[in-house]
Amino acid sequence: MNVIYADNNATTRVAPEVVEAIRPFLTTEYFNPSSMYEPARRTADALAQSRAEVARHFGLADPSEIIFTGCATESTNAAIFGVVRANPNRRHVITTAVEHPAVLGVCKELEREGCDVTFLGVDRDGNLDVGEFIRVLRPDTLLVTIMHANNETGVIFPIEQLARLTKETDPSIIFHTDATQSVGKMPIDLRGELQNVDMLSFSGHKLHAPKGVGALYVKRGTRCRPFLIGGHQEEGRRAGTENVPYIVGLAKALQLAAEGFLDENTRVLGLRDRLEKAIGERIPHIEINGRGAPRLPNTLNVSCHCVEGESLLTQMDAYGICASSGSACTSGSLEPSHVLRAMNIPDAAVQGSVRFSFSRYNTDADVDRIIEAFPKMVANVRRISPYWDQEKNAPRLG
Ligand code: PLP
Repeated sequence: MNVIYADNNATTRVAPEVVEAIRPFLTTEYFNPSSMYEPARRTADALAQSRAEVARHFGLADPSEIIFTGCATESTNAAIFGVVRANPNRRHVITTAVEHPAVLGVCKELEREGCDVTFLGVDRDGNLDVGEFIRVLRPDTLLVTIMHANNETGVIFPIEQLARLTKETDPSIIFHTDATQSVGKMPIDLRGELQNVDMLSFSGHKLHAPKGVGALYVKRGTRCRPFLIGGHQEEGRRAGTENVPYIVGLAKALQLAAEGFLDENTRVLGLRDRLEKAIGERIPHIEINGRGAPRLPNTLNVSCHCVEGESLLTQMDAYGICASSGSACTSGSLEPSHVLRAMNIPDAAVQGSVRFSFSRYNTDADVDRIIEAFPKMVANVRRISPYWDQEKNAPRLG
């Protein structure tokens, strides 16, 4: 049975072109880029070229503003803890209630360490209230850390506007964005529209590079203490021998993404919209989460009332469809999604939430198979639900 992989916000297949770019650095060009002989200088050159390529992708002129890390989680930790440690006189941090745990968990840790953290809520579509954002900025605000696109719903926050408003209020407030889900899916210009962003985090494996490499953009002049301390790599800002093969792969993946932004996004959006429409027509009593907000073109988050998400995922798994549940049951906890809860999606619907996320490797045939199978699976699960009879006969509110 062919697997239909529709979980690209979790991770992506490594692009064949990326595998080819990496190969020499796993075989013949294995040298430590810090070593002082000729073959190592070639490795160091590849590292420098990759850094320049990554910087160029974001419209940056200065490659040293890019620090390579092991993953987005390392980047967000380095950014947030690094800023707080470098600026002990200010203790207020602003974030949102719908961040990935890589930011949310760090902010909760900051609270335990004595910082005052404001967690902004969202409306039913997943949008932030910009007026509220302005109101919570304070004279002692040190850092704003707000994600670019949400991993569960694909909802895109107005980072350009939020970063601009931050700097207009107080240019010394540092603005970080977790762009793990937007990098590679949309163009990002850190000297153009996102020029007020000081720090940006992302991971390679969300954009067809391997797992185990990420990056952090730090605008020149941003006050931030190093997170990993040791050797002099990355100009002393992130110690540890650089993962040259995967860094080369990351640069290649970004290059491929930039070449394909327009065509691929249009095609992927077509797949997502076709699935969304078919699900809407064939399955009653559902919510399409984030539909009223700007969204990534690849993400569809659907909540089916009176359905247990886990049973649905088990059926999909048996049929070869890989997708994610809105609850965290796959990671061993049955906690409903904090993102959907923050959006005020009723609990009965949050439990039956599924996220489909596509990439350039998905086809029309994948969507056809999901359209054929998914409504039947929902109907099967509902047949055994004690609540379904009640709900299907009840009038629906808005
Ligand atoms: N931030 C967001 C928005 C994510 O979606 C993810 C991964 O799902 C992360 C951070 C963490 O990425 P990684 O596991 O590569 O560190």
